[in-house]
Order: sequence, then C-alpha cells, then structure tokens
Amino acid sequence: MTSTETPSASPVPLAEPLFGARERELLLEAMDSGFVSSAGPHIARFERAFAEAVGARHAVACSSGTAALHVALRLCGVGPGDLVAVSDFTFIASANAAAYQGARLLLVDSDRDTWCMDPALLAVTLDARARAGEPLPAAVEAVHVLGQPADLAGIAEACARHGIALVEDAAESLGAGWSGGPLAGRATGTVGRLGAYSFNGNKIITTGGGGMIVTDDEATAERARHLTTQARVPDRGYLHDEVGYNYRLTNLAAALGLAQLERLDQVVARKRAIAARYDAALANTGATLPPRRPGMDSTYWLYSLLVPEGTPADEEAARDALLDALAAARIGARALWRPLHQQPALAGSEYVGGGVGESLYRRGVSLPCSGGLPDEQQERVIEVVLEHAAQRWG
Ligand SMILES: *Cc1c(COP(=O)(O)O)cnc(C)c1O
Repeated sequence: MTSTETPSASPVPLAEPLFGARERELLLEAMDSGFVSSAGPHIARFERAFAEAVGARHAVACSSGTAALHVALRLCGVGPGDLVAVSDFTFIASANAAAYQGARLLLVDSDRDTWCMDPALLAVTLDARARAGEPLPAAVEAVHVLGQPADLAGIAEACARHGIALVEDAAESLGAGWSGGPLAGRATGTVGRLGAYSFNGNKIITTGGGGMIVTDDEATAERARHLTTQARVPDRGYLHDEVGYNYRLTNLAAALGLAQLERLDQVVARKRAIAARYDAALANTGATLPPRRPGMDSTYWLYSLLVPEGTPADEEAARDALLDALAAARIGARALWRPLHQQPALAGSEYVGGGVGESLYRRGVSLPCSGGLPDEQQERVIEVVLEHAAQRWG
C-alpha cells in the first residue's frame, strides 16, 4: 500500500496558523487590561511594530484586509463612477473594495513571469486611454499575488506618468520584498501611496481577522484613523464630520498580532524552505513551478504549481484530477481563483489581457505550506504529486 491509499494517514491542512506561548501571554495581557475592543494599548504597539517591520512611517490597524483596501481607495479619492485598475488574477476582495466606493473596474491581466499585474499591459492601456481622451483610472490597485512581489517599478512608473495614485494590495505578501533592481531594500506594500495587508486566519500572520494600512504620509494616516473610527471628531457630544466606518481592529486582535509579528521572520523562512523543497522535488514532473525572479523575493504564502499545458478542457481536467488525488490522500489542496473578469459579481467590468489569468486558473493547484508543516507531511504531499505526475503527465 502506498501512502496515497493509507486510510489512516492524518489529514494535511493547506495552511494553518502557528500559535505558541507568546500568543497566549499577550492575549491574556490584553484581556486582563480591560481593553478588549477598539481602543487599547496593544493597538498602538502593534501599529508601531508593524510599521517598523515593513519600513513604513505610519500603520493604521483595521478590522480586515478588505476594510484596509476600501479606506485606502477612498483616501485616493476614488468615488462613484470613477475607474479603478485592479489586477484581474486575484481574490475577489481586491475588487470588492473598489466596488464599495461605486467605482467601475478596469481589470488588468497578469504577466507570465510573476503572475501579478503586467506592467507593460498597464502602461500601454493607460497611454492609449490618455491619447484617446478617455477617462483614466483614479487609482491603480496592484496585488502581490500568492506572496510574489509584482513587477512594481514599471507599474509605479506608468502611474506616475499619468498622475494616478498607486495602492498595493499586499494582503498575501507580508514579508516579501525586493533585494535587487530599482526597488531594492523595499517591502511590498510600502512603495505605493498606500499599502494594505490582511491578518485573516490563512495569511502569513493572523489576528483571527484583521488588516493594516501603511503610508509614509502623516495626514493620510490621520485620515485613515478617522475614517476607520466612524469619523468621530474629539468632542463631548458625538460629532462626526463625514460618513466613516467601524473598521478598527480590536485590542484583543492587536495583542495576537503583536505576538504573531514576533515570529514573522521564522514563518517566512519556513515558507521559503518549504517552497525550495517542493521546487527540488517537483522540478521534472512537467508541472510549471511558482515564479522565481531574481531580486523579487516571494514568501510563497501559498505554494501553487500549474499542471502541464493542454487544451483548456484538458487543463481543467488535469487540475481536477490532481485535486482529487490529493483529496483522496487527505491532503488539503485548492484551485487558484477564477479571474475577476469571469466573475458574475463583477459583470460589466472592462478587461485587458491575453488570458494569462484564465490559464493560471485552469492549471493552478496550491499545495500545503503551513509555517508549521512537518517534513514528513510535506514528503507525503510530494509522493502523491510525483506518483500522479508519473501516471498522468508522463
Ligand atoms: C485575503 C485577501 C484580501 C482580503 O483580506 P481580508 O482580511 O480577508 O478581508 C484582499 N486581497 C487579497 C489578495 C487577499 O488574499
């Protein structure tokens, strides 16, 4: 009997958080302090530590990554009827944040090298719109997909040329950054006018649910803090000068975040080691492995491979067959996202591209990559993929 068929093999989760004594300690400290809700000392501590960790001047804690993106876009002046250019291949929250502002979407396809927004395609699209006198986006929201930094220098340059605000959706890419090229030394999320991160349960670090806005501009940070706390003006009589949101992170969640942040380097190092092991083991299977670009350092938040190319129907069938084989071995795996231009929720959006996101969707499978994934569990995943590849992709 191979490990694939062993009925008693314990399940391998796709991505689980890593908690220890420090998380318990800080959570209890927050509880005992009496500050459990949207005010308290751990929030400011978490914001300062986070800003320092990514190299931004200011950080504003939010109740979710989606909330952080929503406020970031509003702070860029995005309003009803405005156009927002968003990565087409991403989780839908990236686009929902723009939709909440009543914006229309211009969905920009990925490049094959990073799986993130194609800078050349964005530039050509913006230039053509400007020449034709068509409205330009009020903001460009670029997503660092699956922990891989986008080719952001080109995106930032196109934005600057047309005076468009750049927002980074770094929800999946905390800990990722550039070690070469024009952005060397920078972390994802800190290059645009604002960056947004997520601390949902499956992200690099978690607060249960939560997010963060970062910016180098103090006035922007103050406005973010104002909007996330119902736009309440300090006054005895409940004075609100605009319509805000209840988007603040709780003190309990911030305490958990502080403890998680202390192990960020450990988690990222472990994710990279897991990725390197998959890369070495799966190199000759016929699968396409995740992007590896010199100077653009991914965290491999989710390690996702692509099944071999074929006709569209063959690709989807090959993806589903691999997902079935992994499920039969009780291994948590998942398909990648259907691109946004194919989402009924976003029907009517504009799309530019050549189907790169569609192909990533048809072929992509994410493999287990928890920060605490034991070696022997990863070995089981590798065995199942190798066996499947030998039978089906030979
Ligand atoms: C998770 C995620 C979000 C949203 O974060 P939440 O904290 O779940 O609201 C936004 N964008 C991307 C790319 C994500 O993966």
